[in-house]
Amino acid sequence: MFEIFILIFGLVIGSFLNVCIYRIPLKQTIVTDPSHCVACGKRIKWYDLIPVISYIILGGKCRVCKQKISMKYPLVELFNGAVYLWIYSFYGLSVQFYAFGFLASCLIVISFIDFEHQIIPNGIIIFMMIFGIIFPYFNKSLGYSDAVIGFFAASIPLLIIAILSRGGMGGGDIKLMAVAGLFLGWKLILLALILGCIVGSVIGLALILLKKIQRRDKIPFGPFLATGIFIAMLYGNQILQWYIGMYF
Ligand SMILES: [Zn+2]
Repeated sequence: MFEIFILIFGLVIGSFLNVCIYRIPLKQTIVTDPSHCVACGKRIKWYDLIPVISYIILGGKCRVCKQKISMKYPLVELFNGAVYLWIYSFYGLSVQFYAFGFLASCLIVISFIDFEHQIIPNGIIIFMMIFGIIFPYFNKSLGYSDAVIGFFAASIPLLIIAILSRGGMGGGDIKLMAVAGLFLGWKLILLALILGCIVGSVIGLALILLKKIQRRDKIPFGPFLATGIFIAMLYGNQILQWYIGMYF
């Protein structure tokens, strides 16, 4: 039954993530300003701000101006709720649950902003860094040396690629892998980098073959790195054990 609380908690936080995804790239405040309709600017009443449910009751339209509300909003809420349940099923109500739940929510915000605006905002990186420094103190299975090495393990190779390719790799991607390394430690962040590259290559190649993009088009790398981090967070230790088991 506790799962219900986790789900509701995830949906409510997901609703806040929508605010972050919309406002951070526009450099608007995410805390003090109440929610407005994107189309007509009218303030949204509290009873129309219930995650997912309000969207269904309103039929996906603003109560005032009847403009369509993007499906993205309930999907982000549902996705964040599902992700919290997913992490909970692995880690229970432990330090890892809070740390990885926080990390996953940041990854959702970063993925959407990077996808739409091709930027990973520094504000989110700094916010993640603060939590990333606090987390190893409570999590004895990670520890500070692992976290600090994790900070550099994937970001330094990306930095070298960025220098060699003269801007082929974004600074935001490097910073993302640095702060995520604080949460995962060096082994899992390296795995996350490899997984992110694999997912990115497969999807990139598929989009080229389907002629959705040109070979020279730039596609944001942040969502792929975020996917790699998320898989490593949940399945990383299993993958590493399986991989080591193949050779020893
Ligand atoms: Zn409206």
